[in-house]
Amino acid sequence: MLTTNEKVTKLNRLVEVSLVINSTLELEPLLRFIMDAAAELTRAQVASILLIDNKTQELHFMAFASESDEEHAKRLKRIPVPLNKSIAGAIVLENKPIRLDDVTKDPRHYRVTDDKSGFLTNSLLGVPMRIKERVIGVLEAVNKLDNGWSDDDQLYLEILASQAAVAIENASLVARLRAALQDLSQVDKLKNDFISIASHELRTPLGVILGYATFLKEESQGQASEHAAAVLNSADKMRQIIEDMVNLRYLKVGESELDFEDLLVSELMMASLHEVQTMANVKDHNLQYRIPTNNLKVRADRYKITMALTNVLNNAVKFSPPATQIMLGYELRDNEVWIFVSDKGIGIPADHLEKIFDTFYQVEDHMTRRHGGMGLGLSIAKGVVEANRGRIWAVSEGEGKGATFYLSLPLIK
Ligand code: ADP
Repeated sequence: MLTTNEKVTKLNRLVEVSLVINSTLELEPLLRFIMDAAAELTRAQVASILLIDNKTQELHFMAFASESDEEHAKRLKRIPVPLNKSIAGAIVLENKPIRLDDVTKDPRHYRVTDDKSGFLTNSLLGVPMRIKERVIGVLEAVNKLDNGWSDDDQLYLEILASQAAVAIENASLVARLRAALQDLSQVDKLKNDFISIASHELRTPLGVILGYATFLKEESQGQASEHAAAVLNSADKMRQIIEDMVNLRYLKVGESELDFEDLLVSELMMASLHEVQTMANVKDHNLQYRIPTNNLKVRADRYKITMALTNVLNNAVKFSPPATQIMLGYELRDNEVWIFVSDKGIGIPADHLEKIFDTFYQVEDHMTRRHGGMGLGLSIAKGVVEANRGRIWAVSEGEGKGATFYLSLPLIK
């Protein structure tokens, strides 16, 4: 019989086990902890957990704790135990504990495990492990170090078995969640790779179409030139969609993904201007610009910030009628440069001025749209500008009154 003091110590240990179980989701160390506690509380040489494999109707060692080496545990894990020819199997099938002071006298004893593992089982106390009344395995204490198994031993083992079952269930839920998450991110990666490859592949043939259409337009006259202009116009719309697809990966770009360099504001503005020149010419826009002549510099990612400004310029071309004026300029404000693009186009109603920076947001209804595009250009621009520690916003007097877009960046002193 245990003394009151011993009982209190053991109960404390049980409470300690529950606390640990509730605070970790890592299965291996948890099971190890439970089994160490099982061996200690029942005064057994070793403890082990066996789980049912429903497909093969066998039990498998899931964890094993003893003073012997790791090798022993590994060997055990490779030995399946048949449900219908073992003591552990009987515990599962009868769904009740078995207490044996001498297993060798029990015909159900599965000797193969001892023979193969080199471990000798003398006495055994095993209890079923259940999750919501369903038996999933067995927790065993093996080789009692003193006297025989007691009622207390069985009680402790049953409590620990229920804790282990909860731990296994939680861990398998977490494992399934992790796997699902991994599947999802794989699908996401596949989608991103596809978009990136497809858009790059589309760029090359489209470049050829744009090039020849430009030639044709310049070299032909009358109707032929108009036809070439129509091809050029459509091909350019397609180019912008493809550019948005290529740049989609920058939608949520982080600072760490940028290649910062000291960049002349004039270079940035000229590069964007160059990008839209052809289309502005096609639409006969009066493209005006005022570019700094001094050494104004910002610290930014050249490629990405140019892409952001180009998106804004492209929109000015797209959303204003032919032969109207588009202005690219800059203002100096405190320690910032405010680059602006101003057009005399369709304008933006006040309640849309912020929303146009949301992904896929377009002022015009999809069914009645007159302008092409996917509603991505501005959201990509915003992501990129903010990652470059800048801001982007729009101003407009309203519908039909044109719009001005500002892109501000901190200046290098
Ligand atoms: P897209 O141009 O592909 O539609 P954007 O994200 O570049 O996508 O722009 C979102 C929306 O903002 C546009 O559909 C349009 O309604 C509005 N917008 C952008 N630029 C202008 C502009 N210069 N003038 C008027 N509306 C604009």
